[in-house]
Amino acid sequence: MRGTMLYAPRDIRVEERAKPTIQAPADAIIRISAACVCGSDLWPYRGIEPIEGPAPMGHEYAGVVEETGSDVRDIKAGDFVVGSFMASDNTCLICQAGYQSRCVHVEYVGAGGAQAEYLRVPLADGTLVATPGQPDQDLIPSLLAASDVLGTGWFGAVAAEAGPGKTVAVVGDGAVGLLAVLAARQLGAEQVIAMSRHEPRQKLAREFGATDIVTERGDEGVAVIKELTGGLGAHSVIEAVGTQESMMQAIRSARPGGHVGYVGVAHGVELPGQELFFAEVHLLGGPAPVRRFLPEMLGLIWNREIDPGRVFDLELPLDQAAEGYKAMDERRAIKALLRP
Ligand SMILES: [Zn+2]
Repeated sequence: MRGTMLYAPRDIRVEERAKPTIQAPADAIIRISAACVCGSDLWPYRGIEPIEGPAPMGHEYAGVVEETGSDVRDIKAGDFVVGSFMASDNTCLICQAGYQSRCVHVEYVGAGGAQAEYLRVPLADGTLVATPGQPDQDLIPSLLAASDVLGTGWFGAVAAEAGPGKTVAVVGDGAVGLLAVLAARQLGAEQVIAMSRHEPRQKLAREFGATDIVTERGDEGVAVIKELTGGLGAHSVIEAVGTQESMMQAIRSARPGGHVGYVGVAHGVELPGQELFFAEVHLLGGPAPVRRFLPEMLGLIWNREIDPGRVFDLELPLDQAAEGYKAMDERRAIKALLRP
């Protein structure tokens, strides 16, 4: 089968690899209908995260189950499924509490590389959710989005306690930030402030339900958020970048007693203890427990109530994966969808 490999910074190749096989009785093998490039794939692509040898890439996926191991009960060959990038048993105490991305049996699904024709998914029953039937082609981008980018934005919004009567600020206008806007509105937030200086992204943020756009960054951005929230700061802030600047912007944009949901993969972020002490804000972040939100998200997508697939503004055949990375790296594309 063909699959995407990262050899060195900015060296992406699509090449022949062995087709994955069932390794454990709880595994499933999926034929990928669509995969995509994640903002987090850009960290190793840019050389900011070290690469150990040629690495299979991709951890977002939607597709059709081809084969299941002997312990798999709920998922069957022929099902159209979406799963999280973290495999979970969905039964342990951590999973039951809603933190499937930290399941005691967690495995990284992306280890096999989802930007490929086939993918092995461990713990299939606890990781995958089947749609009610075979989806129409036009639904596939939105279903794929649920696998990570929507699920991560959703977790950011839930962690920030976005809800009715709340003012929500979103730091970061990548696909996760944009879908955090959508999630905050779905959760009932009244005012959703998107921080973006890119016109096409501002437009999409508005379409996803943003009520205000702030183009300023850093402390200037914080000042505008305060202005828009009666001098107090937002109730809920979603951080969707992962840098020192974005994290501090998020914490400083929250009012005392407010909540920050941080879902940008942190790189070099250090929190100043004393400022944090006096900020008096709640912090919750980490790899999103997408599995917790999948049934609800897939239901909304299946019933065409939300259309998160609009974050894909570039669609390429898998063979042109390198161009997808390049376009996202240069911010020419918000998110690239790859069709095997
Ligand atoms: Zn678990």
